[in-house]
Amino acid sequence: MKQKIKPKVAFFDLAGCEGDQLQIANLEEKILDLLNLVEVVSFREVMKEHSDDYDIAFIEGSATNDHAEERLKEIRKNADIVVAIGACATIGGVNSIRNKQNHEEVGERVYGDNAELSELYISWEKAKPVDAVIKVDYKIHGCPIDRDEFLHVVESLVVGRVPNIPDYPVCVECKLNENVCAFEREEFCVGPVTRAGCDACCVNEGTRCWGCRGLIDNPNEEAHMEVLEEYGLTPEDVMKEFDLYFTWQKEARENE
Ligand code: SF4
Ligand code: SF4
Ligand code: SF4
Repeated sequence: MKQKIKPKVAFFDLAGCEGDQLQIANLEEKILDLLNLVEVVSFREVMKEHSDDYDIAFIEGSATNDHAEERLKEIRKNADIVVAIGACATIGGVNSIRNKQNHEEVGERVYGDNAELSELYISWEKAKPVDAVIKVDYKIHGCPIDRDEFLHVVESLVVGRVPNIPDYPVCVECKLNENVCAFEREEFCVGPVTRAGCDACCVNEGTRCWGCRGLIDNPNEEAHMEVLEEYGLTPEDVMKEFDLYFTWQKEARENE
């Protein structure tokens, strides 16, 4: 990155609900921490100004059409560092549920007779994470992202450190929190193969992990096997069960 006192950062959105940008816009008192570290030059949700002169680009949402691809290539050209934020951008997220469905049927189901006028009609058959189109330097996982993790990544980048993003399963955090395992409640849970970093917050609240932080890098080898074995399951069983967030990653792993 160029040597500057405050790096210039810009935020961009592709297909998504903008929930991750909202997390950043709602940093409340911590917004001052952010502004002490960086100069925000583009952020459509909170300001009118826009500049193409930036060092770090944060990109939310999935790429779904040629226009998105052009935008991404332009962003990559301008930015020293590209960070994908949120499940739609990091792993395809909920957008990729439709990847295994009939594209035209999905359009008609959502837009009825107006399907031909819809954005979906002219979009690709597959929604893609950002790194399927351009090189991504870092990923901030979650749906939506965690505000503290976002600040940690910004702080790390500003001082030239590699951000600490866990690559172990949610089960580790869940067990540390002494939760009753979802399997013991006769529910299914993808915590054994999902990247930690959220403090197992969904299980803490009495539900289960849905996989929003995506698969850990090597779920076959490093997943919390003993949890699965105890209930007579394999990581493949878990991944088969949940397509909510894993559709793109599963397909990519199958094609490796
Ligand atoms: S990852 Fe979740 S919060 Fe972020 S844009 Fe996608 S659906 Fe919205
Ligand atoms: S399977 Fe789910 S509920 Fe059970 S320990 Fe892992 S994360 Fe927690
Ligand atoms: S527990 Fe699972 S679904 Fe919930 S925030 Fe963590 S990774 Fe996402």
